[in-house]
Amino acid sequence: MSVASSGKVVTIHYTLKDDDGDVLDSSRDGDPLDYLHGHGGIVPGLERGLEGKGAGDKVEVTVAPKDGYGEVEGPGPRKVPKSAFPDDVELEPGLQFFAPGPKGQPIPVWVTAVSADDVEIDTNHPLAGATLHFEVEVVGIRDATKDELAHGHPHGPDGHHHH
Ligand code: ZN
Repeated sequence: MSVASSGKVVTIHYTLKDDDGDVLDSSRDGDPLDYLHGHGGIVPGLERGLEGKGAGDKVEVTVAPKDGYGEVEGPGPRKVPKSAFPDDVELEPGLQFFAPGPKGQPIPVWVTAVSADDVEIDTNHPLAGATLHFEVEVVGIRDATKDELAHGHPHGPDGHHHH
């Protein structure tokens, strides 16, 4: 039987809760999530927790910030005017984009709050500093295709994907 290991496409249903037991995110409302094991498609702590699991396994994985979305770092959120964003972007908390860093390199930035005129942005992921509590059911496991291994992410059943 195949198990979750590097080079496998693993399909999971997951529910993510915070320390208070509040649900932050879940795949249960829709399709399960496919990820390519060993390629950074999910947070490192969860990937480690799923290593060696097989289809049908149910696991609870608690992930510390350093193995999840990182510790909170940097100067903290700052406000920028809405006019700094393109009109066709739907601004909402959780939106991620890339901004030029000090040396011109792209750095990930997240929208943390949106008001009438301003958008609050932060270089920390919204879940930085949070301990993550995952409840996961492994739905399926298959070998990745050559294309998927080359791209570092899974493709749909018909090879369809978007980048
Ligand atoms: Zn691809």
